[in-house]
Amino acid sequence: LPSDATSAPVFAIEPHATPIPLDERSAMLVDPGFGRVFTDHMVTIRYNERDGWHDAKIVARAPFQMDSASAVLHYAQEIFEGMKAYRLPDGGAALFRPFENAARFRRSAERMAMIPLPEALFVESVRALVRQEAGWIPEIDGGALYLRPFMIASEVFLGVKPSTEYLYAVIASSVGAYFKGGAPAVTLWVTQDYTRAAPGGTGAAKCGGNYASSLIAQAEATRHGCDQVLFLDAIERRWIEELGGMNIFFVFDDGSIATPPLTGTILPGITRDSLMILARDMGLDVREAPYAIEQCRADAGSGRLVEAFACGTAAVVTPIGTMKMRDGDFRIGSGGPGQTTVRLRQALIDLQRGTAPDPHNWLERV
Ligand code: PMP
Repeated sequence: LPSDATSAPVFAIEPHATPIPLDERSAMLVDPGFGRVFTDHMVTIRYNERDGWHDAKIVARAPFQMDSASAVLHYAQEIFEGMKAYRLPDGGAALFRPFENAARFRRSAERMAMIPLPEALFVESVRALVRQEAGWIPEIDGGALYLRPFMIASEVFLGVKPSTEYLYAVIASSVGAYFKGGAPAVTLWVTQDYTRAAPGGTGAAKCGGNYASSLIAQAEATRHGCDQVLFLDAIERRWIEELGGMNIFFVFDDGSIATPPLTGTILPGITRDSLMILARDMGLDVREAPYAIEQCRADAGSGRLVEAFACGTAAVVTPIGTMKMRDGDFRIGSGGPGQTTVRLRQALIDLQRGTAPDPHNWLERV
């Protein structure tokens, strides 16, 4: 395949023989939830040393046939991305900053010693699937087509070394709001027993293993009646890092906002980056600065910290009302959505859905 795949129609389309009938699809899109409703097709592209990236196609979404000795099943050499296609007011569809996902996917591949997929091919693969499946974007509040590009090590070999063969695929899922009932504010469990990523580790890569290791902490959060887990740094166990699948922001009484810096142990969220730019566009003072959990608790108590929110592709911007930890719970601000959180959330949503100007050219029409 050419590495610049933007012009050539490289994707062979093998349409599904029995796609889900339209009336059934409509019923599925009324309340799809998150990550359970899948579209008819998927993209697959293969890599081997002889042919490079080849065999790009759109096919019926179906189980993979895999050898039981495939490297990914043993050593977790796997990466993924998460992004959304939105319906535009004129009926078209658009992706939000897809080249950022392509670049992050390449960096994840490099960290996991995988062969990077050319960025133009990544974007074209997502575009091709959205074109094929645009009818699966739910016409409901917060509805979108969630795209899940991923890549697995497919070499049949039990030696511990980078695979020489890869399977890249993109699947699509019709989604509504990530938090059931559109939760007005979520509660975080601050885990003091588990960490997510250490310096020199894989925290900045979007690899499946990071999520596998975070599940026990998320389960602990659920046991404590919390919606999400908040991780602290692995060395001093006090610096706030991020949630299991979202970045975090703080809003202070002087109107400034802050988020933990990208030190290699947190995922560089595209929502995080976009919100920093949008906030600066609004004239807010934005800092990337380390923030300790005990300072957060003290600031919440004194009233200096007035709002906190989580952000990511799936959750968009979600207010954080309360933090719970072994040493006791504390509320942030009113415990409900604050005005800066709501304002940033609306600005991002309006931009993503094409109902506000797009000065940074972040929307990519498919
Ligand atoms: N942190 C983690 C660990 C994540 O999995 C995600 C979701 N990709 C994010 C942050 C937010 O990233 P983004 O805004 O690019 O979705």
